[in-house]
Amino acid sequence: MIIIMKPHASKQAVAKVQHLIESKGLTAHLSEGSEVTIVGVVGDKTKLAGSNIELLEGVEKIVAVTESYKLANKKFHPEDSIIPAGKTMIGPGTLTVMAGPCAIESHDQLMQSAIAVKKAGATILRGGAYKPRTSPYSFQGLEEEGLRYMKEAGEVTGLTTICEVTSLRALETAVKYVDMLQIGARNMQNFELLKEAGKSGLPVMLKRGLSATIEEWLNAAEYIMAYDNPNVVLCERGIRTYETATRNTLDLSAVPVIRAKSHLPVIVDPSHATGVRAYIAPMAKAAIAAGADGLMIEVHPCPSCALSDGPQSLTFEDFDALMKSLKPYADLEGRKF
Ligand code: PEP
Ligand code: MN
Repeated sequence: MIIIMKPHASKQAVAKVQHLIESKGLTAHLSEGSEVTIVGVVGDKTKLAGSNIELLEGVEKIVAVTESYKLANKKFHPEDSIIPAGKTMIGPGTLTVMAGPCAIESHDQLMQSAIAVKKAGATILRGGAYKPRTSPYSFQGLEEEGLRYMKEAGEVTGLTTICEVTSLRALETAVKYVDMLQIGARNMQNFELLKEAGKSGLPVMLKRGLSATIEEWLNAAEYIMAYDNPNVVLCERGIRTYETATRNTLDLSAVPVIRAKSHLPVIVDPSHATGVRAYIAPMAKAAIAAGADGLMIEVHPCPSCALSDGPQSLTFEDFDALMKSLKPYADLEGRKF
């Protein structure tokens, strides 16, 4: 449930409400808007029976939150969150572009990519060091060696860095090297990994599972947030449907749905959604129009030589041209690169 305080209720009144909730063994989460403060309550509400919170000074009303996710819920936090990640702020007013290769393949490949995507206007460098591949015989990633290249590329270019973690072991290593963690589609409901990502203290980008509903996705975000990490960014990367012309089906309607249900930023990954280089630009434009807070795009110095996801990777020139073509769309939506 949430307790909506009266406009301009005093700090003491809010503190009293918070104290009462905590004295009953529940957790209170404050969301302080410019006029109204909302106190979100997490825990067994039957413990509040007979407390008459609605009679406390400064309380306007109590509203039940029927959804199972609370901290990720817009009702708990009506203002859109801005998530800090390295030197980047992800959220309203900005269009954050994360770009880089699918997999980190070598020092040179990552360095060249970092310099090229930075020059074109991206602010976050992506690149996988632990690759969740369909076949065990496909390239699995450079692991810690790749993470070392990522750290160096971040230091040299000033870009924020993000890397996917596929296991608890990978997470333990990655936190030493990168600014932001990525939980991939295949691990969206790896609950132990979500809990550890919560405890890591690093911002986390949580991709939507291959066949996950929006409610399951928001509950996965809730796992990270329930472990004291409010810095979660969602990423729509396409879902499984009967259609085979594209790798997945980009569910762009998820963007306004997330906007309505959550305060967390949502970014769109047209690379994994379509799997086809030629479809990335139109879907990136559509994502901006749909209200996305950012884009994740795969870029490679030589897509035809890539060890993974070559067909959906853009060349440096393609990426530069794409970024230029996105500018008017971002302007129209009031978002700065
Ligand atoms: C990736 O971003 O490299 C990746 C594997 O994406 P997804 O988890 O969306 O398939
Ligand atoms: Mn990929």
